[in-house]
Amino acid sequence: MVWRTRFAPAPTGYLHLGHVVNALHVWGLARAFGGDVLLRIEDHDRTRCRDEYEAALLDDLDWLGFAPDIGSTDSFRASRRGRAHASPHAQRQSDNDARYAAALATLTECGLTYVCTCTRRDVARHAARAPGEEPRYPGTCRDAQHADADSLARRVRIPDSEALFEDGRLGLLRQSPAEQCGDVLVRDRHGQWTYQFAVVVDDMAHRIDVAIRGEDLLASTGRQLRLAALLGRERPLRWWHHPLLVHADGRKLSKANHDTSIRERRAAGAHAAGLLGEAAFLSGLLPAARDLSIDELPALFQSRVTPFSGS
Ligand code: GLU
Ligand code: ZN
Repeated sequence: MVWRTRFAPAPTGYLHLGHVVNALHVWGLARAFGGDVLLRIEDHDRTRCRDEYEAALLDDLDWLGFAPDIGSTDSFRASRRGRAHASPHAQRQSDNDARYAAALATLTECGLTYVCTCTRRDVARHAARAPGEEPRYPGTCRDAQHADADSLARRVRIPDSEALFEDGRLGLLRQSPAEQCGDVLVRDRHGQWTYQFAVVVDDMAHRIDVAIRGEDLLASTGRQLRLAALLGRERPLRWWHHPLLVHADGRKLSKANHDTSIRERRAAGAHAAGLLGEAAFLSGLLPAARDLSIDELPALFQSRVTPFSGS
């Protein structure tokens, strides 16, 4: 059976080598093991997303040779952002307000959400974590019964139990979302849907079977599994977290790093096969940098992994 994965960039900047690493894994695993790739533009955060970045990322995907099976780059160009009903051929989170509101209503009807009036600073002050550790929401408003309003933040009660999941590359993992982050924010104080909520709702709506993404998102997996279960997802999403890009000296590449922007590399005369090979090398998919063609992707994965059979 054909399974489905997604490439889900946020248009908050130009595509960079880290996105290319992710695309190599998404398309590589899909092409090697019979999956389809859906393109979803994750523009739920309207304060940071720009149309110009979306246009640039569509253009860069074409230039690199990554062609989605569902949601062609042309279908995105042809559809306008911000319409009431999303086009089935061009999925943008900014079109999905009604979908997120319905999902929130379902949780609220089951008594699973509550209004939270805490500021980010309140949460940080109460959390008292080690430096660098994620702040944990201490549950201040859980039983406060604040009056509801669309302009107020809402959280979902996260059950105090372990989330167990099998990662295609890392094996069996366990996380305790209640310990890591506490009750998850689904909508913030400005009425914005959060990444955690939007991604779970959309993965269900788009019938995604497998999420292939960087290890920087690994900490979110347990809470996303919990949220999906609360929303009634029957077959949990399956996961493949890939290594992030590292410099030859072991430093992680920062997303803001301009020398990795595909735009600038193109302007400086880079060619697509060279960039694909460089990204493959920097993420451990090739033993040395060389030109890499899109058609070679399946071969990079066939030998080293178990397929997502029965997904
Ligand atoms: N939109 C997310 C990002 O750009 C990826 C979504 C996901 O894989 O969960 O980091
Ligand atoms: Zn609160």
